Amino acid sequence: MILNEKKFVTDMLQNTTTELSNIHTCLGLYARYLYYEEGLNTEAITKKLDEFMRDRYPMYNPVDWSSRIEKYAAGAEKYPLCQCTGVWITQKELKTIENLQDKVLERLAFTLLCLAKFSNFRNPDNHGWVNCKNGEIYRMACINAPAFEKDMKYYRLRELGLIEYAKKVDNLNVRVLYIDEESPRKLLITDFRRLGYEWRFYKGENYIRCACCQELTKNTNGRRKYCAVCAGEQNRAKTRFRMKIKRSA
Ligand SMILES: [Zn+2]
Repeated sequence: MILNEKKFVTDMLQNTTTELSNIHTCLGLYARYLYYEEGLNTEAITKKLDEFMRDRYPMYNPVDWSSRIEKYAAGAEKYPLCQCTGVWITQKELKTIENLQDKVLERLAFTLLCLAKFSNFRNPDNHGWVNCKNGEIYRMACINAPAFEKDMKYYRLRELGLIEYAKKVDNLNVRVLYIDEESPRKLLITDFRRLGYEWRFYKGENYIRCACCQELTKNTNGRRKYCAVCAGEQNRAKTRFRMKIKRSA
């Protein structure tokens, strides 16, 4: 989930050597950026997307991609780029979650709260509804549990009067009922990748933000600097460097 889409695109355009994680997300956002920030028409956007793919996507084959690129260009005007710099969690909301006294349930409640507040930011008429895939919510909440236990968690939150829901096949439409914007702001959440860890970090558990990608990661040995992905990348870079030295010696 990307909070600040404009920043995402400007970072993507600046960091030309960084691998693109989800090419479809990148194309969709870049198309909207070109429409809203640069005022380009559909034809010019199509051309720019094609250039972008030639530069940045090694497996690019224009024939395979042309209809998709045209679709992104045509849909560019649908929504302006979201520029959310973070959601504030208030004292009362934190208290409500802490009162659950159940670590897993707390992470789920915190994640739902952040998602509901972000949806409210995007659409002021949203009134606390969260419309996300169940799996996505649990991934962000950093919870591994069998399906029936996951359902039980929602059930408990509903019993406590904290959520109401309209269950559809795979989508859980949950309405968060513990939003309290009147209470003083306490915690600003700007990164939605690991909301469950954001909660643990807030509760004083030993987590660090990766020095490279800023993702929260468990400080397993007490002196970690990077997340697993970036640590692997750092090691590979070190090895490449050593081999280069060896060759030139
Ligand atoms: Zn990292």
